[in-house]
Amino acid sequence: MNIILLGIQGSGKGTLVAQLQKHLSFTLISTGQLLRDEVKKNTDLGKHIHELLTAGKLVETETVINVISHKLNTCSGVVLFDGFPRNNEQAEKLNKILKVDFVIHLKLDKETALERLLSRLTCSNCGFVTNKKHISTTKCPKCGHELSVRSDDVVDGINKRFEIYDKETYPLIEKYNSLGARIIEVDASKQPSEICKEILKVIKDEYHY
Ligand code: AMP
Repeated sequence: MNIILLGIQGSGKGTLVAQLQKHLSFTLISTGQLLRDEVKKNTDLGKHIHELLTAGKLVETETVINVISHKLNTCSGVVLFDGFPRNNEQAEKLNKILKVDFVIHLKLDKETALERLLSRLTCSNCGFVTNKKHISTTKCPKCGHELSVRSDDVVDGINKRFEIYDKETYPLIEKYNSLGARIIEVDASKQPSEICKEILKVIKDEYHY
C-alpha cells in the first residue's frame, strides 16, 4: 500500500507522521529530512542542497531521486511519502515505479500555516517537530539534541515555498484523483490525534488493512 502525504508547509505533515507511526508500520520516505541529512554531511552536494533549501526553492528532481533511490528501490509493504512528489515531473517518475493508493491532503489556511512555521522548532538529529508554544526546553524530548529554527523557516523562504506549493504541488491532488487514488481530505487545524484517527479509519475500512 502506497500513501502520499500532501499539504501546505506548516500543515503538520511531520507531526502526523509521528502519530501514524504509533499505529501503523510503514517505510517512511521523507524527502525534506533526507535532503537535510545530506546537508549535514557538508559535501559539495550538501552545500548545493543547503542553498536551495534556504532560498525556499525545490531541489532538482534528479538529485531528490538520487537521495531517495536506495529506499525507493528496496521499499515494500506500506510506504508513506512525505514531501514527495512535489511536482508533475516527480509524480510521473513515481508512477513508473508504483501505484499510489491513498493521498492524504492536510488542508490549512496560509495564515495559520505561516504562524505555525514562524514558531516551529525542529530537531536536526531525529526530525522531531514542535512549536515554541508547546515546549519550555530547547532540548529534543526524543533524543536530547538541541532544538532549533529551520534555516528555511523565515518569511521570505516560507512565501516562496507557499508559491511553489500552490503552483506545482497542489495540482497533484487532482492528478491522483483522476488516476484513481483515494483522496483523504482532512482539516489540519484539528488535533493531530483526531486527524490520525480519521485517516486510519478510512484506510482500515477501504483497504481492509
Ligand atoms: P520539507 O521538509 O518537506 O518542508 O522540505 C524542505 C525543503 O526540502 C523544501 O522546501 C525543498 O527545498 C526541499 N524538498 C523536499 N522535498 C522535495 C522534493 N520532493 N523535491 C524538491 N525539493 C524538495
